[in-house]
Amino acid sequence: MNKKIWLSSPHMSGKEIKYIQEAFNSNWIAPLGPNVTEFENTMQIYLGENNFVAALSSGTAAIHLGLILAGVSQGDEVLCQTFTFSASANPVVYQGATPVFIDSEADTFNMCPKTLEVAIIDRIAKGKKPKAIIVVDSYGMPAKWDEIAAIAKKYSLFLIEDAASALGSTFKNQKCGTFGDIGILSFNGNKIITTSGGGALVAKTWEIKDKAVFFATQSRDNAPHYQHSEIGYNYRMSNIVAGIGRGQMEVLDEHVTLRRAMHDFYVNYFKDIQGVTVFSEPNTDYYSNHWLSAILVNPEQTGGKTREDLRLAMDAANIESRPLWKPMHLQPIFANDPYYGGTISESLFQNGLCLPSCSNLTSEDRDRIKVALDAFFLK
Ligand SMILES: *Cc1c(COP(=O)(O)O)cnc(C)c1O
Repeated sequence: MNKKIWLSSPHMSGKEIKYIQEAFNSNWIAPLGPNVTEFENTMQIYLGENNFVAALSSGTAAIHLGLILAGVSQGDEVLCQTFTFSASANPVVYQGATPVFIDSEADTFNMCPKTLEVAIIDRIAKGKKPKAIIVVDSYGMPAKWDEIAAIAKKYSLFLIEDAASALGSTFKNQKCGTFGDIGILSFNGNKIITTSGGGALVAKTWEIKDKAVFFATQSRDNAPHYQHSEIGYNYRMSNIVAGIGRGQMEVLDEHVTLRRAMHDFYVNYFKDIQGVTVFSEPNTDYYSNHWLSAILVNPEQTGGKTREDLRLAMDAANIESRPLWKPMHLQPIFANDPYYGGTISESLFQNGLCLPSCSNLTSEDRDRIKVALDAFFLK
């Protein structure tokens, strides 16, 4: 059997081991130490001025702390993009709050600003103003940040950017992760850079970052003994894991280039295939890291071939692919939560497929992908 081609697998540079070795040599194995500080500094320099980064154990933990910093608590409502991974919405429930799901628009697959405003007005009319908004940069594609930020400002709503998969993407030359009051990043094993598992919270002031670190390290008051005035969490990144992050930051730009090359490969392949569109930037304001390349398959134009037929054909060739996100408002666990919008995210799920996008795919891998696609579309 030929080797499996993955959707998105870790891609080490070889530089990570040096920082891990340093941590062992100096016995900095604890969840603090020079790798954590340096990883945060490198990330801050990368994101630009006035961004303060707290390295955490996961992107999910970062969203949870973001909601706590937004003051979200029991009985509150949080507006959340429905087209996303469940980790965007779960922390709303950790806080005892209710997610209110918002549909996407077709240009970026991200939260529709018009539907967002309709929802805000309706929730206020129903007697409760939402506390915060969680917007995602799906598969690396920046959301419509101008419009969304304007709405958040108009209604004084705390804005959280879930840029878990969008490190290296920009909108109007501003880096993803920096658009909200709080941004979050993920370094999970499948992301554009990985620390095996990890995440970060991006704050706008040093004080807010400091508060995030305080919560992430069990909310210890300043005292020689263990003293606590607030509920704490164990969400800090370890110094070993941060060593992987330091090595990965050295190859982030290269990973973006390689992922974008995979996207170009698909654009080039599908230009001659009827009924398939490759998810691409709507205009030059948007620059996606193309973390995952995605296509939409319209069976009315492919002679009845569906995205599920394609997924099974790829699977038979030992090539991984995955349907686009099933929207949160269609998930059993969120079925009773409010939803605003139409069927855009639903049809993205129905017709969309993510294809192998790793930065470490070889030209042989690409040949195999091409052969499998040819066998499916040209037969
Ligand atoms: C990966 C991901 C997360 C969760 O990040 P973890 O580090 O795995 O906790 C959240 N939101 C989106 C959109 C993601 O892709």
